[in-house]
Amino acid sequence: MITRSPANVQIASDLSSPSPSPSAPAWQRQLAEVVRDPVELCRRLGLGESALPGARDGHALFEVRVPEAYLSRIRPGDPNDPLLRQVLPLVAETDAVDGFVADPLEEADHTPRRGLIHKYAGRVLLIASPACAINCRYCFRRHFPYQENSPSRAQWQATLDYLREDTSIQEVILSGGDPLAASDRQLAWLVARLEEIPHLKRLRIHTRLPVVIPARIDETLLEWLGSSRLQKVVVLHANHAQEIDEEVATACARLKAAGVTLLNQSVLLRGVNDRVSALADLSERLFEAGVLPYYLHVLDPVSGAAHFDVPDEEARHLVETLRDQLPGFLMPRLVREVPGAGSKTPL
Ligand code: SF4
Repeated sequence: MITRSPANVQIASDLSSPSPSPSAPAWQRQLAEVVRDPVELCRRLGLGESALPGARDGHALFEVRVPEAYLSRIRPGDPNDPLLRQVLPLVAETDAVDGFVADPLEEADHTPRRGLIHKYAGRVLLIASPACAINCRYCFRRHFPYQENSPSRAQWQATLDYLREDTSIQEVILSGGDPLAASDRQLAWLVARLEEIPHLKRLRIHTRLPVVIPARIDETLLEWLGSSRLQKVVVLHANHAQEIDEEVATACARLKAAGVTLLNQSVLLRGVNDRVSALADLSERLFEAGVLPYYLHVLDPVSGAAHFDVPDEEARHLVETLRDQLPGFLMPRLVREVPGAGSKTPL
C-alpha cells in the first residue's frame, strides 16, 4: 500500500539500500545489485587487460554503475559497443580540457531552495533523487553537489511553499539523479502534495530508469502515476537503438496505457550515435516503442567528458542529412543548453 502521510516520508534518502529485503520490488533489488567495480565490468564483458587502467582512473573520478538489465544488451568483447562507451570509464576522463568545467550549466546560480532549480518561466525542476541507476560517463551533473541538494522533510515543505506562492508555475519537472530511483512511497507523497497546488497542471519526469531497469515500471508506480490529476509526461533518455529491447518497449507500453505522454531526449556522443544511420535507427526504434524523439542535445562541456564532444558544424550536418531520411515527426530538435538562457537554444 502507498503511504501518503508526510510524517514518515523523506524524499531522496533510501535510494539503493545495499541489501533490500527479499520482498522488495524487483527493481529495487536490481538497483542494489548494479555492477560498481570497473574490473568486474571488464571481466564480464570479456575486455582485455588494456582497458583496466583507464577504467580504474575514470572510476576514481566518477564511480562505475551499470545495472544488469543494461549490461545484458552490451556485446561482449566489443570495446566499441555504443552502450559500453556510455558506461566504461576511460583514461581520457582525467584530461583537463579548456572550456570543460564542473558545472557547465551554472545551476548553482538558480537554486532558490535546496533541491529546486528555477531557470525557465512557468516551470521548475526538483531534484527528487540524488542518485542514478546508471552512471553515464558524459553526465553534465557528474560533479553536482547532490548532498547539498537532498532536502530534508522540512526543506521539502519550503519548496512546496515556494511553488504555492508563485502562481506562474504550471509545470513541475522531477529530475535528479534519476527521480525514479526514489521509492514509490516517497514519490507518491510528493506528487500528492503537488496535486494540492491548484495552479500546477503538468508533471514531467526526466528519467533513464525505464531504459536501464525496465522493471521499474511496475504496478505500484503505475498506481500513483496513473491516478494523478496532473497531465503526465515522461521524458526518457536513450541514445542508441540497441538500448531499447523488448522489455523496455513493454515498460513504455505500460506507461502509455496509464495516460503518460512519452518523449525521448538524447545526447549526441562521439563513438555512440554520431552517425546518421545510428540516429535514424534510434528515432525509428523509439517510435516503434511509442516514444517521440524530442531533443538531441549537444554535449554539455562538463570536465571529464570532452572525448564525447561532436563539433557544432558536424552536428548540424548530421541532423540536416537525417532530415532527408525521416518524416518530420521523427526528427529530434538539435539543441544546446546555454547558462542563463530562457529555454533550450536551437543550433
Ligand atoms: S541517468 Fe542522467 S543524471 Fe544519471 S548519470 Fe545518466 S545522464 Fe546523468
